[in-house]
Amino acid sequence: MTEKLSTDPVFRDIEENYRRITETIADASVRSGRTPADVRFMAVTKTVQPIFINHALSLGVGLIGENKVQELLSKLDSLHPADVEKHLIGHLQTNKVAKILPHVSMIQSVDSLHLAEAIDRESEKRGVRTDILLEVNIGGEDSKTGFPFDGFEENVCRIASLPSVRVRGIMTIPPFCEKKEDSRRFFCKAYKLFIDIKGKNIDNISMDTLSMGMSSDYEEAILEGATLVRVGSSLFGGRRY
Ligand SMILES: *Cc1c(COP(=O)(O)O)cnc(C)c1O
Repeated sequence: MTEKLSTDPVFRDIEENYRRITETIADASVRSGRTPADVRFMAVTKTVQPIFINHALSLGVGLIGENKVQELLSKLDSLHPADVEKHLIGHLQTNKVAKILPHVSMIQSVDSLHLAEAIDRESEKRGVRTDILLEVNIGGEDSKTGFPFDGFEENVCRIASLPSVRVRGIMTIPPFCEKKEDSRRFFCKAYKLFIDIKGKNIDNISMDTLSMGMSSDYEEAILEGATLVRVGSSLFGGRRY
């Protein structure tokens, strides 16, 4: 790290934030009867310039998430290390599946059977198997994408029959809650669904990832069983679009 980098206030903020978040995650994972290693941290890097993303990577962040295919592609050449693990976490149109597949190790935002089939076809063409999470609309909100809670198992079974995708778990974003304690019942509902599907031991499915919790509520999400939290603004500061 150069002298300029280590003294820039934005870089110091990111360091301070990362330290605080790491402590909160460790504390919440222990309080939920697990160890800090059981909860994975993702830095959500939408709208964040590569120079700041790279600073987070230099601190030990090992996983980043982006919402948009184009934005992720535009940053690829500037990331150090270039092979940092990347997941797509935003809505994906089927016509962009081919573009993004080679660059991410997981698509967390699979929100329809149609999209799962498109990923399966493209993966088969490339001779790969793609890890996916199924996004569940846990609060049943019209404004959100995701599979409905009701009938979820049926959708899981259909997707389990696609040979070139591997369902690794569930991703969810609960409804906005004034008080963050209120989000806990949605996280709890998602956790129960996760455990329920996991217990069915469906062929071709390995339920090991429950992705939930963002800057405002990742602590609550961990207390309810999240195995991966997606944090943006608490790490990098507020977004300027
Ligand atoms: C933006 C975003 C996040 C992170 O949001 P913050 O509140 O900034 O932490 C997490 N998950 C998804 C799907 C997002 O789009």
